[in-house]
Amino acid sequence: MNAEIIAIGSEMLTPHRQDTNSLYLTDRLNSLGVTVDFKTIVGDNFAHLTGAIDTALSRVDIVILSGGLGPTEDDLTREAVASVLKLNLKRSNELLAGLHARFAKRNMTMSPNNAKQADVIDGAVVLPNAHGSAAGQFLDTVYGDHRKLIVLLPGPPKELKPLYDTEVRPRLHAILPPRFIAKRMLRIALVPESTVDARTAPIYKTYEDVETTILAHNGEIQLHFQCANSSMEQAQARVNEVASRCEQEMADDVFSAHGESLEEVVQLLLQLKGVRLATAESCTGGWLAQRITSLPNSSRSFVGGAVAYSDDLKSTFAEVPPLLIRQYGAVSEQVARALAEGIRRKTGADLAIGITGIAGPGGGTEEKPVGLVYVALADAQGTAVKKLSLSGDRERIRWWTTQHALDMLRRKLM
Ligand code: ATP
Ligand code: MG
Repeated sequence: MNAEIIAIGSEMLTPHRQDTNSLYLTDRLNSLGVTVDFKTIVGDNFAHLTGAIDTALSRVDIVILSGGLGPTEDDLTREAVASVLKLNLKRSNELLAGLHARFAKRNMTMSPNNAKQADVIDGAVVLPNAHGSAAGQFLDTVYGDHRKLIVLLPGPPKELKPLYDTEVRPRLHAILPPRFIAKRMLRIALVPESTVDARTAPIYKTYEDVETTILAHNGEIQLHFQCANSSMEQAQARVNEVASRCEQEMADDVFSAHGESLEEVVQLLLQLKGVRLATAESCTGGWLAQRITSLPNSSRSFVGGAVAYSDDLKSTFAEVPPLLIRQYGAVSEQVARALAEGIRRKTGADLAIGITGIAGPGGGTEEKPVGLVYVALADAQGTAVKKLSLSGDRERIRWWTTQHALDMLRRKLM
């Protein structure tokens, strides 16, 4: 089933007010398996409104209207829907009594124009509004030989949201065929988004019933899969199938197929292999150690680390020969290597990371620009060093460095 949302109110055709109700409604409708194919914003004008309603009824199964249920001259939604459907409006005594009571409670007398808020379209179910004077209406009707569901809701978000949740959603749920939504996510480290898309699109494009979204954030690409189906098993099977095929395609680049974070995966691998880790960090200032120790039970595999910031402490904490620093500079492949090997020796760890780099914004030179970082990984067999040329501000360079270090660990341990 598909839907159209019509937001009614001339104020939303100005630069000052935005239609936000449709965002809320779209999310809720999607969760019932209903896709929103159209959104319309229309001013408080009877001819425009009837035109919009007529158009909507010609192209979707469910039309949800928000706003224009107030007591004033320009609130025309009830009248417009009745007119398009050629149905009468009947004043409801019960609603009218409710309106009078509302005013009486506030020690006010109701002005006559308020009475039109008690008008109900023939055949509509009244949706009582606990937060305002405008009741909603739910119409299950036939238009041009097709069954149509038409819902009228008040414009103020504080009224629309609870009214949708308590009165509309249960009704739609009862009418619509059951829909189950299955979701999966693959997390991929340090591969450009365009590369991920180029490699996986030929696969996921063949799954028309699965909605695939690629999100890039903070040195990680997420591939989200979502499928709605009348059977949960079927929905699950479809997302599992497309996820497995994309996982196969991306192979080792996928660090998580079930939602785990990069540090969780590294910890799992360390513990699985019984490997103990140490770190010696310069420009990341302990951020890598922080990420690793943010997880419970990290002490089983992480022995500790040093924040070896000054040249002196690189030597004291990680046995980096002062001569090496003088010869190649603190930010160099040689010093990164020495940091990793030194902290490994000092701590007795099996595996060690050494990090040195220029996080900026100052301190860069032509030869060694801001963003130049070396990450070394040492084990009993030897040491590998990765040279990074990172862009962005200090925060980003430092984060991406920890991301690279964790991914080097992961690949080493796989
Ligand atoms: P009322 O009984 O309060 O008059 P109504 O159904 O006539 O209800 P409107 O007069 O259209 O509602 O709108 C009332 C308020 O709700 C306005 O402040 C308006 O900006 C806001 N509003 C209306 N439609 C939307 C929308 N689609 N998204 C966000 N806010 C909206
Ligand atoms: Mg209005």
